[in-house]
Amino acid sequence: MIIQLESQVDEGQKKDIINKINELKYKTTEVKTQKGDYLVGIGKKDFDIRKIGNLPGIADIHIVSDDYKLVSRKWKVKPTAIDLGDGVVIEEGSMAIMAGPCSIEGEEQIEKTIEHLVENGVRIMRGGVYKPRSSPYSFRGMGIDGLKLWYDAARKAGIKIITEVMQVSQIGEMYDYIDIYQVGARNTQNFNLLDELGRVDKPVMIKRGISGTIDELLYSAEYVFSAGNENLLLCERGIRTYEKATRNTMDINAISILKEKTHLPVIADPSHGIGIRDHVDPVALASVMAGADGVIFETHEKPEEAFSDGQQTLDFSESSRLIEKIRKVHDLRESL
Ligand code: PEP
Ligand code: MN
Repeated sequence: MIIQLESQVDEGQKKDIINKINELKYKTTEVKTQKGDYLVGIGKKDFDIRKIGNLPGIADIHIVSDDYKLVSRKWKVKPTAIDLGDGVVIEEGSMAIMAGPCSIEGEEQIEKTIEHLVENGVRIMRGGVYKPRSSPYSFRGMGIDGLKLWYDAARKAGIKIITEVMQVSQIGEMYDYIDIYQVGARNTQNFNLLDELGRVDKPVMIKRGISGTIDELLYSAEYVFSAGNENLLLCERGIRTYEKATRNTMDINAISILKEKTHLPVIADPSHGIGIRDHVDPVALASVMAGADGVIFETHEKPEEAFSDGQQTLDFSESSRLIEKIRKVHDLRESL
């Protein structure tokens, strides 16, 4: 059960509502986000909703049968839109494109990528400054200094930044320089990190865990929402299966299922999803047809020289072509 409280609800009214719900053998959690004040009730017994529906302070009440509550589509009429400012909005019905290198490598690379994005009308740039690498000897990112360089150049060009946060201590230091925190596949179930991201007022994109189920991804989002941040996006980036021909197995099914289960925007990452440059396009386009609200992919002026993930990275002309195709396929989808 989700109870949306009125914006002017007072503490006394809140107490009365909580007492009433507890009497019905439901446990309550209070959730206060940028957008609203909620009570989440967890319990088993069926009861007559009218018993509490007309208590003062309640704006709306919804019975949500799913195990995750706040991220469920069942209670929200309007799907969540993520407004990054300056006219950049990620929402159902539009197509957000986020592109950039796997890793931020230096000033020249940043400038060239921004130029490429501006030419193609892309407003969100991806890139890692803290890189989770399987081997400790691989390039692990430029860190906060790289992020500051990137921020200065991106702001001038009106480009928004999405980058991975790997640990709690980085949240504060990154805050002023980013537009979306990315939670990587290796951190999807780092519940301390998710809790802390619930306490900030910037959007968070959670990637699906390497061997994570769809429900586990939804629960991870529930962590952030219930800790106070409802500016959330989910990302399908492929999962580990027995298949060895590709880096991961892009779960196109998950996109369609997530669109049914949650009101949060769903983003597809075909680069990590298949991991092979020549096959990024079809996976990206299939994801759009499956209902994705956005695509995030890796691009670099010279992929063969990229510090990480060059094998799945598009060069700028391939990237321009993919952007055009994504937009065409999105228009087709919306016209069907
Ligand atoms: C990335 O986006 O570069 C990345 C490391 O992705 P993932 O967490 O999905 O592996
Ligand atoms: Mn990568």
